[in-house]
Amino acid sequence: MPDVWLETRRKIITFARKLQSERLVYSTAGNISMRMPGEPGLLAVTPTSTQYDFLEPEDITIVTLDGRIVDGRKEPTSEVAMHTLIHQRRPEVGAIVHTHGKAVMTMANLGWTLPPILTGLVEATGGAVRTSPYSQPETDQMADYTEDALRDRGATFLRFHGLLAVGADLEHAFHTASVVEGACEVYLTLRQLGEVHELPAPQVEWIASYWRAQFPGAPEPLPAPEPVPSA
Ligand SMILES: [Zn+2]
Repeated sequence: MPDVWLETRRKIITFARKLQSERLVYSTAGNISMRMPGEPGLLAVTPTSTQYDFLEPEDITIVTLDGRIVDGRKEPTSEVAMHTLIHQRRPEVGAIVHTHGKAVMTMANLGWTLPPILTGLVEATGGAVRTSPYSQPETDQMADYTEDALRDRGATFLRFHGLLAVGADLEHAFHTASVVEGACEVYLTLRQLGEVHELPAPQVEWIASYWRAQFPGAPEPLPAPEPVPSA
């Protein structure tokens, strides 16, 4: 196996276990894909129905962007079409992380939008996180129906399902998925308390430009706006 394949597979296993340790998934739910460094037409993806504790490098499947298996002793995740189609359509995306955390599943059930309530959330997602229409699992709908909500954002809730996060690399995609889970917990608490405050729009626009800057060829982040009076 080429060194870069082994390193990539090991990296995916490290992040897959982080999904579990941060409670962003339960049992075998969730999945990860990452573009192979130096070979943008190949993806490394987590396998179907495998407990994260037992993952070994050979279990991480290597597929082409049209879903053909190139290497690996297991079938890829049953949601592989969502990964291959998004990577095909979005060459700037280097990794995708799909989670089933408790707070994002709550938002996904309700079909709510997570507003820009925290600076860290905007830095991780580019702004409000929207819910994509319900898509039938294991179909191309999972990529098609998320296209609008993901156009200028790092994440979207999949209705009745979970969260989809994208990034220029696996570090960014994982960071986004983890930050959104935490922000959803805060938002659901705020809703129970009956009061939610949002960042002012110029602040959202400015911080979002730092999120955008992770992608190759993106413009420089915007200059800082005038500081807002204390709120
Ligand atoms: Zn899923």
